[in-house]
Amino acid sequence: MNRIDLGDFELSVFSDGTYPLDGGAFFGVVPKVMWSKKVKADERNFVAAGLNSLLIRTGKQNILVETGIGNKLAEKMVKIYGQPAKLLDNLAAVGISPEQIDIVINTHLHFDHCGWNTVRKNGEVVPTFPRAKYYVQEGEWQHGREQHVRDSMSYISDNYDPLIKSGQMELLRGDREIVLGVSVKVFPGHTAHMQGVIVKSGGKTACYISDLIPTAAHIDLTWVMAFDLSPIDTIDSRKRYYAQALPEIWLTVFTHGADVPWAYIETDVAGKLVARPME
Ligand SMILES: [Zn+2]
Repeated sequence: MNRIDLGDFELSVFSDGTYPLDGGAFFGVVPKVMWSKKVKADERNFVAAGLNSLLIRTGKQNILVETGIGNKLAEKMVKIYGQPAKLLDNLAAVGISPEQIDIVINTHLHFDHCGWNTVRKNGEVVPTFPRAKYYVQEGEWQHGREQHVRDSMSYISDNYDPLIKSGQMELLRGDREIVLGVSVKVFPGHTAHMQGVIVKSGGKTACYISDLIPTAAHIDLTWVMAFDLSPIDTIDSRKRYYAQALPEIWLTVFTHGADVPWAYIETDVAGKLVARPME
């Protein structure tokens, strides 16, 4: 199921497709004998990762969280990751056009999270969602601009700089309510300024947790991706997230879950964290 009601809001997951990630990088220090029980890798050790965007319809606004890989990747990147570019088609299939999106929230600016922010039109990079206001953390943008040798490949300025120049993207400093019931909260670890998106309506809560917990197979505190810049901060941020999300029964939305886009995270009788998918 990819659509639910959350109080007065409607939430739906739309995919930009899947792309291959190295299983070792995806699960960090976790040995393959352990992660391969949960996720299958191909003969080159690649795992299919999802590219899930969340559409929040509040009744007043249509808010799109994350915009996948998009369609502007350079040839070299296409060779590594492919370029499924399915998000706009999947939105159009249920009658949603780019003009209908009021707000876009990027949790961070890695290429697989903000690719459809912009498109190339007549040699120019323009907003894909012409009416939308875009949001990201200022610290995340600054880190991208730094072009650090560790992760410069992940930051493609065409995905955000034209929007900042035009004033269409607002740079946030810390936690913020974007509209009534939709707020962002910074969870350091994957990057220092990655933000989750918390949605509250009618006494229910969902959280698009992004790369803090990329898939349902990553819920264990120590199953941290090798991509993360600060794994210890990831663990601390997960603890902080679970301390609230578990007792309050939040629905967790996973960016990279190819099969399970969302689930309730719980502890079983043995005290182990488990993901209970939606029925
Ligand atoms: Zn990322």
